[in-house]
Amino acid sequence: MSESETGEHASQRTGDQHECQRCARKQGLVGKYDIWLCRQCFREIAPKMGFKKYR
Ligand SMILES: [Zn+2]
Repeated sequence: MSESETGEHASQRTGDQHECQRCARKQGLVGKYDIWLCRQCFREIAPKMGFKKYR
């Protein structure tokens, strides 16, 4: 019970485990900019979101 139902959308998922919002993978997650994506999806999405090549 670390998060309370105040403001944030708590109806999306229960629990505090993050997973890729694109393929629901839980390995190699990149939690930048409040988006959770696995490294593979991040590489594909990053350019489309305006990110340049990350190192
Ligand atoms: Zn993914």
